Amino acid sequence: MTDALTLFDDLEPAETPVDSRLLQVRTVYAEPAAAASPRGRQVLARFPDAELVEVPSHWQIPDLHGNEGNVERWVRVKTETLVLGVKKSVTVRPNGRSADFIAPSTANGCAMACAYCYVPRRKGYANPITVFTNIDQITRAVRRHVDRQGVKPEPNECDPFDWVYDLGENSDCSVDALVSDNIADLVATFRTLPTAKASFATKFVNRQLLDLDPQGRTRVRFSLMPDADAKLLDVRTSRIDERIAAIDDFVEAGYEVHLNFSPVVLREGWEADWTTLLRQLDDELSDATKAQAATEIIMLTHNEQLHEVNLGWHPQAEELLWRPEVQQPKVSQNGMLNVRYRNDVKRAGVDRLQQLIARHAPWLRVRYAF
Ligand code: SF4
Repeated sequence: MTDALTLFDDLEPAETPVDSRLLQVRTVYAEPAAAASPRGRQVLARFPDAELVEVPSHWQIPDLHGNEGNVERWVRVKTETLVLGVKKSVTVRPNGRSADFIAPSTANGCAMACAYCYVPRRKGYANPITVFTNIDQITRAVRRHVDRQGVKPEPNECDPFDWVYDLGENSDCSVDALVSDNIADLVATFRTLPTAKASFATKFVNRQLLDLDPQGRTRVRFSLMPDADAKLLDVRTSRIDERIAAIDDFVEAGYEVHLNFSPVVLREGWEADWTTLLRQLDDELSDATKAQAATEIIMLTHNEQLHEVNLGWHPQAEELLWRPEVQQPKVSQNGMLNVRYRNDVKRAGVDRLQQLIARHAPWLRVRYAF
């Protein structure tokens, strides 16, 4: 005889199938333990038509590799594929610029395809979303870490009062929130932590986040750049106008909303287009939004390997991104050859953008620039 409890245990919570142009998922590759977990079952319930393919490790999926030169194939992989895995290393790392700490990732990979994206592309260049299903372990690790810090002793450029924990280092949390409740669980965790605040940057407007009641303990950083740049570089993201139109709603819903001017791309005409963007923000944002606003300025960093790949599918983007006459090389910690604007070019660009902000959006505090 089946007892009632077993029957109840087997019931999936009601999930609404995901309806998004970004995610028409046909295949979910999953580690068996991840697929069997409550979070894994939630993801599978949100994509009821997808085929489940078991894999020994979320890193070993040969079908996802070999797409370097074929953007249509990348976009198809990003749209039609998800991966479920268990995150092995659940550690909080120090940061120091945008945030005090980096929380353990609850996902890696992204359904969008920004031409400059540095998110590791180890699952083939397509790099679809991998959801980590051990969310309870991750939120426990964050809580323990926050408890150990005590009260923040003094203000810094991350925040005057709270320890700031960056979420979504390797993904876009707004899209991740379509796929599972991992982001909802993190927002709920930080709601109860009086000394800490979550923070994530995003290029996608997911209005489901408005229902999460963050109570000021989550900072959303909407990434902005002139629309002319975004049309070329921010492939598959929400348009700039849509992001700006969402900002007041997120403030009203209880988020702290900051901006990310990232990446700032120096090109002919950049000052005029940034002026237009700053004036639009000044015209359209509410007083309540302006009173709590701040921004980061992050000048473009690019990468030689990515440049080579992009030449194969998006050469116009490279006309903006790859400009050796004003860039200098820098070998990164993992041995990649990065390029960034020459020190003098970068300094002049940062100074000029700060002048434009002071003139056209004087309410916008620059939290840091680099
Ligand atoms: S939205 Fe962020 S994570 Fe996604 S492709 Fe763009 S830069 Fe990368």
